[in-house]
Amino acid sequence: MFCPSCGTNAKEGDLFCTSCGKSFAASQEIELHSFGPWGVNTCFSRPGTFVWMQKNNTKVILTNQRISGLSSFNNSPRFQVNYSDIIAKENFDYRLNLGPWKVLWLKYREAEKIKEVSIMCFGPASSNITTAFEIIQNNSPRI
Ligand SMILES: [Zn+2]
Repeated sequence: MFCPSCGTNAKEGDLFCTSCGKSFAASQEIELHSFGPWGVNTCFSRPGTFVWMQKNNTKVILTNQRISGLSSFNNSPRFQVNYSDIIAKENFDYRLNLGPWKVLWLKYREAEKIKEVSIMCFGPASSNITTAFEIIQNNSPRI
C-alpha cells in the first residue's frame, strides 16, 4: 500500500503514514474495476502506426485513487497514475488492424515529468474503456 498523499510505501495495516502523517482511515484504497491482459494494448503516447505497443500482457486495475497497469509476466507496474496527477484525459475510437479500438488516453504528472499512456481495448473488451473513463471521471473532480 502506498500513501495517497506523499506516495511513501506504507505497511499493510498502518493507520497513518510514517513520512507525512496522513491518516489512512478515511482514505482506504478500494479496487473498483480490473481487466486484461487479453484484449488490452498499451503504449506510452497516443496510438499511431509506428507506435510500439504492449499487446495482451498488461493487467489494468482501477481503484478509487489511481489506475495501474501491471505486467502479466511478473506483476511489475508498467504505469501507475494517481487521479490527482492527471492533467488531461480522452476517450476515443482508433482504427487499427482488424477494426475500431476504444482508447483511454491520459496525460499526467510523475516526478516533475509529463507522461502519457494509452490503454486500448478491442471488441467485447471495449466496454472496459468506457467503465475506466467513468471511474476516473467520478474520482477526480478537478478534471
Ligand atoms: Zn505520506
